[in-house]
Amino acid sequence: MSLVVAIDGPSGSGKSSVSRAVARRLALAYLDTGAMYRAATWWCLSEGVDLADVAAVADEVRRLPLVMGLDPVRPSVHVAGVDVAGPIRETWVSEQVSALSTNLAVRAELVARQRDLVATERTGGFSSGRGVVAEGRDITTVVAPDAEVRVLLTANAAARLARRALEVHGAADEAAVAATRDQVLRRDARDATVVEFQRPAEGVELVDSSDLDLPQTVEAVLDVVARLTGRRA
Ligand code: C5P
Repeated sequence: MSLVVAIDGPSGSGKSSVSRAVARRLALAYLDTGAMYRAATWWCLSEGVDLADVAAVADEVRRLPLVMGLDPVRPSVHVAGVDVAGPIRETWVSEQVSALSTNLAVRAELVARQRDLVATERTGGFSSGRGVVAEGRDITTVVAPDAEVRVLLTANAAARLARRALEVHGAADEAAVAATRDQVLRRDARDATVVEFQRPAEGVELVDSSDLDLPQTVEAVLDVVARLTGRRA
């Protein structure tokens, strides 16, 4: 029986690290849907497309030659054969990604690709049909509302900012947090105009990681999986 675990949450909630670890522990594939929005943004900027031109961006994204590698040990993102895993995390991409994630035609295209990837993992794919942990902003509600396990991972703003500051600046002191604040909170506010990821939809389990470290958060999510499916890591 295949298993799909859908995990949503705001930036800095620990979503990516937790989802990868859960996928490894359960021997499932791992799909980072945020990386797809980032890769699409990187591609449009590289091709010189004006991100304000909604129709041109949507056309470009329909042609996006994107290949997602779903191995949780070594997830990969390639566009036209180029490894973009590093560049898509850079600030110039993070600052522009909301232009694509608020473009409804872009969302339709990427959601369709994400549903295909999830469906493939239910029957074959990287996981040989064991299933997938998919993470993002709208996985529990739009991409995989039929997932066996749906989790909204939250954390208070202070915890999220400290984590992002550590990730981006290598420190979580006052200056690093201040530098991160604008970027994180502004992006969440823009993202929230198109998808609801701050409150759990009906049937979605809430896991608050504010006071948990990474291993504890992973255990909390695995506990939800065990409670809902009987499946243990
Ligand atoms: O998770 P990450 O920060 O890498 O996501 C980058 C951006 O992609 C988010 O800020 C959001 O705009 C967009 N996104 C989305 N829907 C998803 C995943 C990501 O709109 N399912």
